[in-house]
Amino acid sequence: MIKYKPSIYSKSIYTIDYKKLKKSGIKCLLFDLDNTLVESKAKIPTKQVIELFTELKKMGFLIIIFSNSNAKRLMPFSKKLDVAFNSFSLKPLKHSFIKVMKKYKLSKEEVVLIGDQLLTDVLGGNKVGIKTILVDPILTSEFFFTKVNRMREKRIYNKLEKLNILKKGEYYG
Ligand SMILES: [Mg+2]
Repeated sequence: MIKYKPSIYSKSIYTIDYKKLKKSGIKCLLFDLDNTLVESKAKIPTKQVIELFTELKKMGFLIIIFSNSNAKRLMPFSKKLDVAFNSFSLKPLKHSFIKVMKKYKLSKEEVVLIGDQLLTDVLGGNKVGIKTILVDPILTSEFFFTKVNRMREKRIYNKLEKLNILKKGEYYG
């Protein structure tokens, strides 16, 4: 079950201590899109996300939108936020993580994945050996497959809580 444990658990992308990440040697932030950056039906980034990204870029982070969605969905966000993206990432598979690290010459210690799902984001990042940050999902409506994942996820959360590994709403790191 430990493979589902994020390195850090934060309420949202706005409550993460990015200065601390920077100090610990993190150079690249891989952001999940749906329900992490914006709600899954949003077509453009919010002002809040734009402001956060401006700040993070000033701090010197390389930012990549790292999503299982297709390029057509990611393109407007990539353009508006002026950051790179990786589509069809197939999280939790390791392939895309490794591809991105090679492309940008990054070591595992320099990359963190920030996402809202245990079964894709946290599991994928942990498998590849990078730091993972779980955030609570910006919930509105979700795609069918996400709903199925959420049901599985709920069972995992229950197990994690029983084992004292992770409890919903008890943030750390
Ligand atoms: Mg997501």
